[in-house]
Amino acid sequence: MDALAGRYDAFLEASRAGDRARASAEFHAILGLRPGVVPAGFSQVTPAGQSLQRYDTLRKVDLVALSRGQRAVAKFEDLSRAQASHLQRLARTLGWQSARRGPYARRYDRVASEPSQAGDRYSVAVSRGSGAREVLEAEDDRSPEGTRRAGLLLGYPPCCVERFVEVSQSPEAREEGVNEAGLRAFVGEGEALPWRLNPLCTVSLVGFLPCGPGCAPALAFAQRVLDALAAEDRDGVRRVRATLVRPVLFFRYPLWFSFDGVVQGTDVVYRGALRNDDGEAHPAWTSWAEGIVGCALQVGEGVSLRDGVLAVTSPLGEVARWRLTEPTVPRLLRFEDAG
Ligand SMILES: [Zn+2]
Repeated sequence: MDALAGRYDAFLEASRAGDRARASAEFHAILGLRPGVVPAGFSQVTPAGQSLQRYDTLRKVDLVALSRGQRAVAKFEDLSRAQASHLQRLARTLGWQSARRGPYARRYDRVASEPSQAGDRYSVAVSRGSGAREVLEAEDDRSPEGTRRAGLLLGYPPCCVERFVEVSQSPEAREEGVNEAGLRAFVGEGEALPWRLNPLCTVSLVGFLPCGPGCAPALAFAQRVLDALAAEDRDGVRRVRATLVRPVLFFRYPLWFSFDGVVQGTDVVYRGALRNDDGEAHPAWTSWAEGIVGCALQVGEGVSLRDGVLAVTSPLGEVARWRLTEPTVPRLLRFEDAG
């Protein structure tokens, strides 16, 4: 188990035991925030809204890219048994090949989520020609070589595949898990990123972590998927862009907030803030995320992250301020048209 996973466990244990002081300390440590100044009187309501990324949703972008011939092979993870069967039936109808693995227990964000019933998830790989079975066989290897083979079979750019293999072997991956380490390697310290490469969404055009914000083959991959979307639904492209361009305050792979707003300099000015909700987060996790950060964002209209301070502001003044721990955990991600 990686060290971050151990911290998640300590948080959930404290919260189960009703030890609010320890739960608060652990949760702040996970978010990389020193306990901050948050005005009293916030209500702990969970705002309704839709999530950027859900793990239990079939990625339709990949199906469209497959059906338009812009991808040859795609893999769908963490599906329910019904979704997996539906997808395999669909593949048969279209004359595509498919292969399935599972059941397995959910891998994503395992410690921040309610324990799922043992073995209720499936992966399905689908290919127009051959490749579906080979992708899953390569992954069964559970080795850097298997990861490399699977990535290349899925049509991901070789530079991005190599970078991911490298990150998966890094001390950061051992410390924080491979998803978290991979994302941090991609976003850096929070420089502006092309929205076409935004990986934090169910409608992400790329289902892999690009090796960097300027990766030309990754941008070309994203453009091919966009072309497929455009051929299917002109308005779909506009809606996908509007979704992927939203600024994000990222803390941890299972926790980030997206904004209905704009970037001004390095700050974000927003009308609304929405916690990412994968639909499966542990109630204690959700409650602390809202109680510490979400409630401040509901009151504020601006957020800044600089000089070791995360601050939420409103026209009436500062709503909340936290000094950051080292190394810095939060990232304020800005997505732009360039690229
Ligand atoms: Zn690349």
